[in-house]
Amino acid sequence: MTDGTARIDDVEVNLDIHLAHSARMYDYYLGGTTNFPADREAAGRALAVFPYARTAARANRAFMRRSTKLLAEAGIRQFLDIGTGIPTSPNLHEVAQSAAPDAKIVYADNDPIVLLHAQALLRGTEQGVTAYVQADVRAPGELLDAARGILDFTRPIALSMNALLHFVPSDAHRITEGLKAQLPSGSALVISHVTPDFAPEETARLIQVYTAAGTPVAACTRDEVTRFFTGWDLMEPGVVATPRWYPELAGDTEHITDAEASCYGAVAIRP
Ligand code: SAH
Repeated sequence: MTDGTARIDDVEVNLDIHLAHSARMYDYYLGGTTNFPADREAAGRALAVFPYARTAARANRAFMRRSTKLLAEAGIRQFLDIGTGIPTSPNLHEVAQSAAPDAKIVYADNDPIVLLHAQALLRGTEQGVTAYVQADVRAPGELLDAARGILDFTRPIALSMNALLHFVPSDAHRITEGLKAQLPSGSALVISHVTPDFAPEETARLIQVYTAAGTPVAACTRDEVTRFFTGWDLMEPGVVATPRWYPELAGDTEHITDAEASCYGAVAIRP
């Protein structure tokens, strides 16, 4: 992999190791080892202006775990997770299948490094299904076609897009509406998203660092995040900083402040 290429099922993929990638920077914040010097340099610049990046990533992961657990316990058996990231245990399928072993999970990400690692790590239960599709949320038709081979779109699906939509700055609301329209009643929408509301100056600088590294990012205010859920019933406690969403379910990130998280999280159900 030294030249930045790798083979997956005999297909050569280019990992662009000389460019920082959001998935690998995020992996670095979480203490992972699936990152390269360009990622670590950009992540270092991000940490210099936004010292909470590691905490924010941890709080975001914990929000993913709590929302998945709650939805699996509430009876949802199908999960579509877009913008999965490099596997970091416990992953969404581990949480969902420990509550419901027959749960089916489809992961999707557009970064080939996620595909590379997904194949090795994403082992699910025998009763359930864990699948991965290489797809871009900006081409939702293709992504959904791949997911339809595994999930039953006449039954409730939990669509999660955690720490993803800020990477599709101008199109996030339109894309989300298109995806929502394909999901049946009883489905859930789970979103976490960077916000400028709690640490405006630091977040503005963070956005500059990502944009300069080639990854445009947009932060959303609480109203803008709330708009993703239009027409669906927001679960309590609504749109809150990620550590404030059912903190009692795990109690592991309660101490993180809103500024340290600088992300909103929320879940809504399609009526
Ligand atoms: N959802 C995980 C990882 C978030 S990191 C978590 O919350 O812990 C953001 C992920 O989104 C990265 O893996 C990145 O590769 C992916 N991503 C960014 N833009 C994307 C796009 N247009 N389509 C699909 N995935 C994308």
